[in-house]
Amino acid sequence: MSGTNGSKANGSRPMVVVEGLSKTFQLGDQWVRALDAVSVRVPAGQFLAIMGPSGSGKSTLLYLLGGLDRPSEGQVSVAGRRLDSMSSDDLAQFRRETVGFIFQAFHLIPTMTALQNVALPGVFAGLPRDQREQRATWLLGLMGLRQRMHHKPSQLSGGQQQRVAIARALFNNPPVIMADEPTGALDSKTGQAVMHVLRRMCSTLGKTVIVVTHDPAIARYADRMLLLKDGRVIEDRAPSQEEKRDVA
Ligand code: ADP
Ligand code: MG
Repeated sequence: MSGTNGSKANGSRPMVVVEGLSKTFQLGDQWVRALDAVSVRVPAGQFLAIMGPSGSGKSTLLYLLGGLDRPSEGQVSVAGRRLDSMSSDDLAQFRRETVGFIFQAFHLIPTMTALQNVALPGVFAGLPRDQREQRATWLLGLMGLRQRMHHKPSQLSGGQQQRVAIARALFNNPPVIMADEPTGALDSKTGQAVMHVLRRMCSTLGKTVIVVTHDPAIARYADRMLLLKDGRVIEDRAPSQEEKRDVA
């Protein structure tokens, strides 16, 4: 059964617990072990960066943590709920309530304004229009985009579009934000502004933030860096003071 744990995650309780997590994909007659017995705990309120070369399993791990895919072996719990044994309906509900996703390509709806994009989760939740627009307006203000709320994505810069996507990810007030290379399509200065916003979501709103990234400047924002190679964790540490300085 899922959804039985109604208590809120707090500092002493990890937001994410992963034990012996593996994912194997079949490609024709070939098997690819994308993730190989990964175990990790992420405390509530931590900013975790998942790093590693292309193909090392970063996205696979993130998707398993977010309930977008299912493990081949092992256990995943997020916010006290076991994802590996959840029904598809419960998983869909888990994703809506618990996780805000941000992707490299923004995935905004081009025909909708920034306001409509951010308010979209409220449409699915059945919120009345004035309530959804009020919340979307507040979130866009938080992102510094109050003046842009009636613009369509094509009328916004890449950095602005990603901030709209972050506002949308926050709409249902999820405790966890997950981002897959959120700055991958942005220049480095704009990318830093986006990382800065994610850091603020962690520090001021208390969100647990998990970001897959290649950006070396991440050391400035993350509390912890997890390095993957060939589907395994090969390093798990805090950024050094030196790294925090170097990226200025
Ligand atoms: P990363 O995000 O670190 O670049 P991925 O997690 O996307 O890596 O992929 C890890 C490995 O798993 C790669 O070898 C990739 O080709 C393989 N892989 C990922 N998704 C699939 C899939 N849906 N089908 C088959 N192989 C996959
Ligand atoms: Mg990836």
